[in-house]
Amino acid sequence: MMDPVLNFIDGAFVPAQNGTTLNTVNPATGEVITTLPKSSSDDVEAATAAALRAAPAWAATTMDERIAWLHRIADALEDDRETVAQLESKDTGKPIALARRVDAARSVSNFRFFAEFGAQHSDPTFTDHGAINHLHRSPIGCVGLITPWNLPLYLLSWKVAPALLMGNTIVAKPSELTPLTANHLAVVMERIGFPSGVFNLVHGLGPDVGQAIVEHPDIRGVSFTGGTATGKIVAATAAPMFKKLSLELGGKNATVVLDDAPLDEIMAGLVRASFTNSGQVCLCGSRILVDASIYELFKSKFTEAVESITVGDPSEEQTSMGSVISHDHRGKVESYIRLAVEEGGRVLTGGTSGDAPVEGVSQQGAFLRPTVIEGLSHTSRTATEEIFGPVVTLHAFHTEDEAVEMANATEYGLAGSVWTADTERGHRFAQRLDTGIVWVNTWLNRDLRTPFGGVKQSGVGREGGAWSVNFFSELTNICVQQP
Ligand code: NAD
Repeated sequence: MMDPVLNFIDGAFVPAQNGTTLNTVNPATGEVITTLPKSSSDDVEAATAAALRAAPAWAATTMDERIAWLHRIADALEDDRETVAQLESKDTGKPIALARRVDAARSVSNFRFFAEFGAQHSDPTFTDHGAINHLHRSPIGCVGLITPWNLPLYLLSWKVAPALLMGNTIVAKPSELTPLTANHLAVVMERIGFPSGVFNLVHGLGPDVGQAIVEHPDIRGVSFTGGTATGKIVAATAAPMFKKLSLELGGKNATVVLDDAPLDEIMAGLVRASFTNSGQVCLCGSRILVDASIYELFKSKFTEAVESITVGDPSEEQTSMGSVISHDHRGKVESYIRLAVEEGGRVLTGGTSGDAPVEGVSQQGAFLRPTVIEGLSHTSRTATEEIFGPVVTLHAFHTEDEAVEMANATEYGLAGSVWTADTERGHRFAQRLDTGIVWVNTWLNRDLRTPFGGVKQSGVGREGGAWSVNFFSELTNICVQQP
């Protein structure tokens, strides 16, 4: 077993005050990796007190000093990128190659990006009636950052970097299912001598630790990424306290294949958009809408491509799909596969672990084959509720208007993609989707300066570049009458 994970409060690694722990499990083997604190509101109180004590000195640092710290954190994470990838792969069951390419790399680039963005960012002044209006930015103060298990350090660092850049101190809570890389970030902070109390980490369950962060009156801003049901609780708790709130929630994204799409060229991109991280990316396209004139051809090419995905031991270099996050989650995904059949769907490939077992992996692992289902109404539960696993449904449409109507027929509105030989047509189509992000002939192609976030039940607010800077700062307009 690895050493136990501890909370990181005021620059020190400490257990939960109540002394209790939880296990973190490798979902690909069922083995307990180590324990983490099962913290309570007392630990959140201690972390918040430390963050408040550290706040004045951190807020008084210059932007250049904070930028230098972000570069130092990025350098240290870069030195440790293999460690980060190994920890992330063990904690989540994702393939090591994916953890290297996406999780470890992006965690470094989040810090690097916000350091560079901060160096270039400046606010305008406005002159009118002989007065100059200057924008003055101050930190919010102590902010709460709550993150999910699918991209643990990637999503935590996406919040930590801009929060620090803008002079805030932090109480963060990673998912109880994936504490290892957040802990490693604390290890890195300690190693480079990052000021105590500026970054605090409290591990534990959402209703205990997450709820205590959202409820704490001295935590004035909360950036939350997770499921829509949890987001509703966070919003209901924070709204009467008038906290600054950013909510990045669930999705049920449409992948739209127009009749002129060059199928052979785009197939690898479509498979990636459907099954990256076992479909456990909020941006994955889980409903593929295909023009009826190419539906049968698409179906056979797509099913063949999906069957060539290498599902296996995440520690093997050639594995392209590992396990899902837990046995509980596999059970949830399988319940949707069974529901799909009850709703009249046909499983074209994949299925439950009983129907389509994965060979050559630990029998204690939470593995599933990538699953493709057709024959369902686009308004069925399977096609409108977030499954967040390796399951996609195929639907045929006859006109672009019908495709738009189908794409927009869910409560969610996070992302989507359109595939066509005609980029102008794709661009026009994209503007008709009720969603925060649309990719045309690409997927998860991220320029970190762009706004990221969803509409409808996928969230409130945007993160990225200037949007993160705005979220993590308060603005005072100072209007100076000129002599
Ligand atoms: P979750 O909502 O169960 O948990 C997210 C975090 O919230 C965890 O740290 C959890 O412990 C905490 N939490 C639980 N109850 C809480 C409460 N009452 N108060 C405060 N915090 C609480 O989500 P999950 O299962 O960890 O992650 C999967 C979900 O996240 C999916 O719905 C996925 O779409 C979504 N997601 C969204 C984005 C995005 O950018 N929009 C990115 C990744 C994942």
